[in-house]
Amino acid sequence: MDLEPHSVDPVIQRTCAECGAELTVREIEASMESGDVYLCSVHAAEQVPLDQEHEVEQ
Ligand SMILES: [Zn+2]
Repeated sequence: MDLEPHSVDPVIQRTCAECGAELTVREIEASMESGDVYLCSVHAAEQVPLDQEHEVEQ
């Protein structure tokens, strides 16, 4: 699996933090965009952005 070295990141996780499944390049890129937790597509879909949970109209 080749990752394009377009950025210098000290650590790139290649497995899902939840289930340990090996991530595809697309899943790794999506994880890097969304935050610091690396998840497979299944668990990434379950992940809810915490910041948006607190936006409550009063
Ligand atoms: Zn997973």
